[in-house]
Amino acid sequence: MCEIAPGQSGVCRVRANIDGKIKSLTYGSPCSIAIDPVEKKPLYHFLPGSQILSLATAGCNLRCKFCQNWEISQGDPHDMQNYSASPAELVALAEERGCHSIAYTYTDPVVYYEYALDCSKKAHEAGIRNVLVTAAYVKPEPWGELCRFTDAANIDLKAFSDEFYRNICGAALQPVLNALVAAKDTGVMLEVTNLVIPGLNDSDADLKNLTRWVKENLGVETPLHFSRFFPQYHMIDRDPTPKATLRRSKEIAESEGLKHVYLGNVITKAAENTYCPGCGELLVERHSYAVLRNNIKEGCCPECDREIYGVWR
Ligand SMILES: [Zn+2]
Repeated sequence: MCEIAPGQSGVCRVRANIDGKIKSLTYGSPCSIAIDPVEKKPLYHFLPGSQILSLATAGCNLRCKFCQNWEISQGDPHDMQNYSASPAELVALAEERGCHSIAYTYTDPVVYYEYALDCSKKAHEAGIRNVLVTAAYVKPEPWGELCRFTDAANIDLKAFSDEFYRNICGAALQPVLNALVAAKDTGVMLEVTNLVIPGLNDSDADLKNLTRWVKENLGVETPLHFSRFFPQYHMIDRDPTPKATLRRSKEIAESEGLKHVYLGNVITKAAENTYCPGCGELLVERHSYAVLRNNIKEGCCPECDREIYGVWR
């Protein structure tokens, strides 16, 4: 919880107490707008090969020492060049550029909640889908409201340790777990990302606990992305994650029963592809952010007709 004195702003730097009222300082002022392949979010089970209009405003409610977007997440919005885009203008831009979905990403949509919510509502009115890329460190009520207008999300589960969340991210674990379950219950197509950091969250026990929780609370078909760490921001005291660690992470998650485990930030052929959990058929072949082949037919495996978790059309 953040209490803000008159004339001051909160830890996120984007909410301020102006004459006794808390105001969002970045509404309608994204600092980044780009068109990305949806695979970059990463989302592997949501309209593969599609382009997604992606935006962020400055600020974040976390303080991750390894943040890869720290220039915008930890910066003051007044120090940045911001665009001006009302929700209606943003939706018009998506339509103009042929994007069928919008991603609230790069920083954390939780800090530009009102803007993300209004954009999401406008997008749905226009038949455009919404994607959240977030750490989901948020209170249940606003989160539930945002999820109602969200079609898919990639949520960071940074470690299965409250100590990690407190010491490395300035946050806490339990609200994130609650938000993951709530998103799933609301019908949001969910993928989970875990950044594997050498010496911090990469022990067999860490990985086992995390994947077991995903299996038991979100289901075995939930896509899980293990992402490679690179030294960044306030964490330049260690090397990038060894490839062997990432392979071990994948093996552990699969031995726990997860069906769709991917490796990110690293080129490894088979760990980018989607296979049928029933018959093993190659369903979506990828290379980096490109989709080379998509064999999924109406949401199902063409070989055994098994339904594949995701949004495919
Ligand atoms: Zn199959």
